Amino acid sequence: MQDQPGLTAGGIKAQARSLGFSLCGIAPAGAFPELRFLREWLDRGYAGEMRYMERTADRRADVRQVLPGARTVIALATNYNVDRPYSVEQADPGRARISRYAWGEDYHDVIGGRTAALLDWMRRAVPEPFEARPYVDTGPVQERVYAQRAGLGWIGKNSCLINARLGSWLFLSEIICTLPLETDPPALDQCGACALCIEACPTGAIVEPRTVDATRCLSYLTIEQRGKVEESARPEIGSHVYGCDVCQEVCPWNAPAAVSDDPAWRPRPAFDQPRLVDLWRRPDDQLRPIVKRSAMSHAGVRSLRRNTAVALGNSGSAAAVEALSEPAEGSRANPLVEEHAAWARRRLRAASVRDA
Ligand code: SF4
Ligand code: SF4
Repeated sequence: MQDQPGLTAGGIKAQARSLGFSLCGIAPAGAFPELRFLREWLDRGYAGEMRYMERTADRRADVRQVLPGARTVIALATNYNVDRPYSVEQADPGRARISRYAWGEDYHDVIGGRTAALLDWMRRAVPEPFEARPYVDTGPVQERVYAQRAGLGWIGKNSCLINARLGSWLFLSEIICTLPLETDPPALDQCGACALCIEACPTGAIVEPRTVDATRCLSYLTIEQRGKVEESARPEIGSHVYGCDVCQEVCPWNAPAAVSDDPAWRPRPAFDQPRLVDLWRRPDDQLRPIVKRSAMSHAGVRSLRRNTAVALGNSGSAAAVEALSEPAEGSRANPLVEEHAAWARRRLRAASVRDA
């Protein structure tokens, strides 16, 4: 494809870098064969309660369903890794595990703003009007497929996009547009014979390479599943109170991974590997504003409380027994949270009986 007069692929990439994006590539808009995998994944029931995936499946099969006349997809990636040890390196079950991507600012806002700024710049740079749709994570787009097609990285066996230089701690976003820009060659798979992520997954959720059964994945159980967590699944949650990074932490391409100095991703003290009891005791009026401005706003305080109760039950610590026996207030007194806290108290009692 040819660049648009006045707006080159090179110019867009330079502007993306100046806006803080770590990677930018351009893919042709098309119905690539790998996009069909979504239908099979949905049919196997792996999406669980994520019904929005089913509702948007047709549009996700081809970006031209989202934007008729689309010619290219400008794929963007932003490294959010910060200089903190991986959760698999710290064996303390009394510390909360929170997915790295949720430690700092809400990426929907930060990356959304930068993606919109890039599109504004493009509109000023090109004389002719064109159609475009910017998305960050929540759009009806199979972002990783287009990012791979744009040469940003390959989709690893853990289903994450991996860049050979930066690793996989990447926020993805994209601009679908009707401009005929010069495209990049796709990235090649470099997982080889490695299967570390599959072996390390605590729940066996990676049922085959690049296929995650979300209903077994801790990210789904702690974030997407809003109601009661089945009792059989609670022990596997361990100390994960929001998401799970295990399959990325064990990946050799993240050892070590590039570190970002962007202040947007600096961990908030409340989410910086806090002690479970401290997180549990933090009053709602402190917790709510922190959650609201983070990626956790998607799940909300109630889910965080529910998961923290489960993690306290799994911690086996005397401090957890004490924290859970204190009078519950605010969101800790929510019936859903209280049911999980009661389970945690029973589990801790049973553990101490076993120890005795
Ligand atoms: S996020 Fe955790 S539970 Fe989900 S597939 Fe990766 S290692 Fe398994
Ligand atoms: S751990 Fe190994 S198999 Fe899994 S994504 Fe990384 S390189 Fe690929």
